Order: sequence, then structure tokens, then C-alpha cells
Amino acid sequence: MQGEFAFIEGIRRRAQQDAPDALDTSLVLGIGDDAAVWRPREGCESLITTDLLVEDVDFKIDYAVPAWLGHKVLAVSLSDIAAMGGRARFSLLSLGIPRTLGDEFWRDFFAGYFALADRLGVRLIGGDTSAAPERLVLDSIVIGECSRGRAVRRSRARVGDDVWVTGVVGGAHIGLSRLADGCRVTADVDDLTQRALRRHLKPEPPVEFGRRLGESGLAHSMIDVSDGLAQDLQHICVESEVSAEIDADRVPVAPEMQLITGDSSKGLLLALNGGEDFELLVTAATTSAGELIGLAGTCGVTLSRIGRIVDRGESCIYLTGPGYRRSFTPAGYEHFA
Ligand code: ADP
Ligand code: MG
Repeated sequence: MQGEFAFIEGIRRRAQQDAPDALDTSLVLGIGDDAAVWRPREGCESLITTDLLVEDVDFKIDYAVPAWLGHKVLAVSLSDIAAMGGRARFSLLSLGIPRTLGDEFWRDFFAGYFALADRLGVRLIGGDTSAAPERLVLDSIVIGECSRGRAVRRSRARVGDDVWVTGVVGGAHIGLSRLADGCRVTADVDDLTQRALRRHLKPEPPVEFGRRLGESGLAHSMIDVSDGLAQDLQHICVESEVSAEIDADRVPVAPEMQLITGDSSKGLLLALNGGEDFELLVTAATTSAGELIGLAGTCGVTLSRIGRIVDRGESCIYLTGPGYRRSFTPAGYEHFA
């Protein structure tokens, strides 16, 4: 692999090319100095988020498509900004690089990273680069903004709110389990499997919907689905000191679920617990339903009303269906578990 300075120079050149400068009035100084300089816009608040992806813990290099890994490391942070109702503006990327990865890997990785960054008008303004003993370490930082007071928190769900989720859930988990079975992204895998692998390896969070929802002020609370739908709903419940009911037959289970189980109750369980879907989970007043659906339609996003926020108490999740209501213990992803 090329030396550190040449490597960073390559990133710098790429970051400055095609950058949306006209929009970038708030960037004073990007890559090349000890720190970047930017000036928050009048009337805006800054949102800052970081995601650490460690090889063999958060991803496997053997499963990865390098361009999709570059896409994903940015996408997961964009998902966090969207979940706050903000717009992503700038990114930083710190790399711990093992000797095993060559120039070709990095060319593809950055092609994926910048394709997503350029598409959404996000400008890479810095990072850090170091060697790592064996495993690749990626730290993705994104800076976003929202109008003052508009950031959507986990902690403001209210009793009586509807619970909504974008897209479908469980697909990323299916993709991961197919990868674990030895499936890879090659031309000969069938369409459904291909879609499942893609959901895991190249997530597309509904960032435009998140931003416009934040701007609209309609959402009482919001979180992105990274640990699993039920687990993330429980995070809202704990922070808001409420409980929630999920209507079992309204959960939008990913169509790829049929790849591994014909048993719909098992499929539901995997959809509730599977992680990394990077959809948005929202609570809002029942009276906002029409506007929410309209906004989702404008953004080309499907939205399902899957339940409601109920009385305070132990921050429980309940699963309901015809003739039953039972408490559901999320089994989503947890580090150190
Ligand atoms: P320092 O010694 O102050 O950390 P570096 O030589 O590491 O400076 O970095 C020089 C410039 O390159 C800085 O602006 C830094 O933000 C940027 N940079 C370094 N690594 C990366 C990277 N992986 N991605 C983007 N920018 C980077
Ligand atoms: Mg440095």
C-alpha cells in the first residue's frame, strides 16, 4: 500500500472534487490543517454523531464488498442524523489500517463512500489515519444540522402516540444469516437472496424523510432501527418513561424472510429482533397520521403504523393480536452480552 501522506492526499483530492461548494457557505476550511473550520448557520443547531466499526465485531472483511463497506460506514452515521430529524453536512473518517489491505481495496472503498456522500451533499472534512495490527477499524463521524429546537429526541414519546416504522424490517438479519451460510454477492445468486445481502451490506436509510419529518415538527420521538425494532422501541420507552404495544400483524416483515422460514411467527420474531435495518421508528400524535403518510409518500418511503404508546410503568413492550396481549422481551443486539 502507498505511504500515509500519499494516501491522505488522495482522499483530500477526492473530497474536494465535485464538492457541493455552492451550498457549502458554512465550511471555512476542510482537509489539510490540524482541524477543520466551519460556521454553523444562523438559527441552526449542530448534530454530531460517531460510529465505530471494528472488523470481526461489527463486520467481516470476508463478507464485505469494499465499495459497499465504504457506503455502509457513512450510511450508519447518516441514519443517526436522520433519526434526529437533521440534515447531514460534513463527515470525518478515521481509519486503523492493517497491512493486509491494498490500494485496490481502498479505491473501491472510497468509491462507495464518496458515491453516497456526493449524492447527499455531504462533504468529507477530515479524519485520522493510523496503522492497526491485524484488523480494520473504521470510525465514522458525521456533523449535521437542524433548525433550533427541532432535534427529535428519544425521550418525548407521549401516551396515545401512534408508533410508525419506515420500510421493512428483518431483511438485514436475513442477509447476515445468508452470508454466514456461505452465500456471497455473486452473479449467480437469486434475486431475493441478492436483495437480502444488499440490505445487510449496503443499507439505504430514509434520510430525506427523517430530515423533513424533523423540520415538520410532527414527530414526538424518533430512533433509527439498528439494534432491532423491539429493542429500539424499548429505548424510546425507557427514555420517555412509557410502554408500547406492537400489533403483530402490522409489522412490515421483509419479503426476504421467506428465504429462511415459512413459519410466520418465527419470521415475526426475527423481524422484531433482527438488527441493522436502518429504518426510522417514529412516534406521533394520532391526529398527525394523514400528514405523516403524505410526507412519506413525497419522500418515496413506505410507512407502517405498527402500534401505540401506552401508559407509563416499566417501559415494557407488548405484542398484541386477535385475542391476546403479552409482554415481549426484546432480544436485539448488545455488545458485551
Ligand atoms: P495530524 O497529525 O494533525 O493528525 P494528519 O497528518 O493526520 O494531521 O492529517 C492531515 C489532514 O488530513 C487533516 O486535515 C486530517 O483531518 C486529514 N485526514 C487524515 N486522515 C484522514 C482520513 N482518513 N480521512 C479524511 N481526512 C483525513
Ligand atoms: Mg493524524
